[in-house]
Amino acid sequence: MDIKVPRGTQDILPSETAKWQVVEELIRETCRVYHYKEIRTPIFEHTELFTRSVGDTTDIVQKEMYTFQDRGNRSLTLRPEGTASAVRAYVEHKMFGYPDQPVKLYYMGPMFRYERQQAGRYRQFVQLGIEAIGSADPAIDAEVISLAMALYQKAGLKKLKLVINSLGDTESRVAHKEALVNHFEPHIEAFCSDCQNRLQKNPLRILDCKVDRNNPLMETAPSLTDYLNEESAAYFEQVKEYLNILNVPYEVDANLVRGLDYYNHTAFEIMSVAEGFGAITTLAGGGRYNGLVEELGGPASPGIGFAMSIERLLLAIEAENNTWEDLATLDVYVIAMGQAAKKKAVELTYSLRQNNITAEMDYLDRKMKSQMKSADRLKAKFVLLVGDDELEKQSAMLKDLSTGEQQLVPFNSLLEQLQNNLTTQLEEEKND
Ligand code: ATP
Ligand code: MG
Repeated sequence: MDIKVPRGTQDILPSETAKWQVVEELIRETCRVYHYKEIRTPIFEHTELFTRSVGDTTDIVQKEMYTFQDRGNRSLTLRPEGTASAVRAYVEHKMFGYPDQPVKLYYMGPMFRYERQQAGRYRQFVQLGIEAIGSADPAIDAEVISLAMALYQKAGLKKLKLVINSLGDTESRVAHKEALVNHFEPHIEAFCSDCQNRLQKNPLRILDCKVDRNNPLMETAPSLTDYLNEESAAYFEQVKEYLNILNVPYEVDANLVRGLDYYNHTAFEIMSVAEGFGAITTLAGGGRYNGLVEELGGPASPGIGFAMSIERLLLAIEAENNTWEDLATLDVYVIAMGQAAKKKAVELTYSLRQNNITAEMDYLDRKMKSQMKSADRLKAKFVLLVGDDELEKQSAMLKDLSTGEQQLVPFNSLLEQLQNNLTTQLEEEKND
């Protein structure tokens, strides 16, 4: 059979899933501490949700969506991102009526974009997204940004760069848009057809164009910063002040515009500056979207959020040469020698597992040497050896694979002994 995974998708094999689980756990734990609650929305939505929210001049909507007609002739789309769904749910379930605002949500799951595959860019990828809807307090902007940074730091990353910008409110953006049109219009023939379309509809998008990024007019384009009205500038100042209070270092980049239409005010990206991370350096992106709830039929409710893919997080961890040695280890490998011992081994393995000790044994009737090799390969912390001698003494030989020490332990105190040894080992590791 020569059927392979579809381009841009990947199988995550048993040897890799442990990393995913560690990262996913770290994410859930961090979200819990910051008091964000999980929301789970469908993998597909009405296409209109994305054209209305993400914006119909964006790359996502124009080129990247998996859109299909279902048997009832509805146009549906595999979700390319999660904010639209979260906001739809906020409106649909009238979360704006909840007494405690902002409503703080997170989601983690697959997103789909028809893109050219490269390292860190897939057609199916897993995003973590955070949304805080219902507050326009600049302190919540700082909370969301600091949560993103905390995640990467907890994952052991050090080579991070946070870039922020303000896209301003509607008034600021209208003024800036006019300036952009005046700037690009006389020379627009030199730009790609996408940019020509963007000129009137959404000239800000031109600044984000990957085809024309080296055109000299990009450098000299009017900067949004110069068009921020007083209110927008003051808001941005406060966001920066809160970031300072939280000790989160940032750079301001006036050219940072995000690839989705719904953003205003605060926009930010987190990059990896680790050598060898490759061409794509952005780990996460987010921003404020004060008009989106209204756009999707709810009452005016300001929101802010970010999204990051687990794939890029894992790549960044590898680029910083962090290892995964401690992950997915086996506590005990039970080795049996002979048929009578085998029965005891089955019983022991089961009782260890019943007591939350990760245990494995041989099911191929292999020689002791091969069983020992398996224990090493699987990075077992301890080996439990049972043979005829041990059976007679109603005991098993407990061997610590990190020190080589071994001791004969009676069956009836085995569990207690192992639990003690495992705890001691954990504590020693922590003190290292
Ligand atoms: P890029 O400029 O890399 O295309 P984007 O602006 O399209 O990113 P967003 O839509 O803001 O990205 O998505 C937020 C995050 O989701 C990105 O920072 C990245 O971590 C992740 N992401 C986006 N597209 C992909 C993809 N195709 N594969 C893996 N991760 C992705
Ligand atoms: Mg993209």
